[in-house]
Amino acid sequence: MGWVCPICNGLANYTIRCPDCGSQMEAGSAVQDYFDAYSPYLDKRIIRQADGVEHNRCVHLFYCPNCNEDKRVIINEIQM
Ligand SMILES: [Zn+2]
Ligand SMILES: [Zn+2]
Repeated sequence: MGWVCPICNGLANYTIRCPDCGSQMEAGSAVQDYFDAYSPYLDKRIIRQADGVEHNRCVHLFYCPNCNEDKRVIINEIQM
């Protein structure tokens, strides 16, 4: 099956707290397309992390319902 994003595939719930108000932020859709449009070097969707292992990734928008902030969070994909 290869690399899959746990959020896109409903395999995991990520809980992110809003840095401003501490409310729980809601996971939105993937924003990979948005990223690709502005950052050409990211379009391979692979990053090499500090541990030397390459991970595919998926970027999601998290939204704070309290203060209407949104924030992009990089989710490491998992290998199935
Ligand atoms: Zn995803
Ligand atoms: Zn907030």
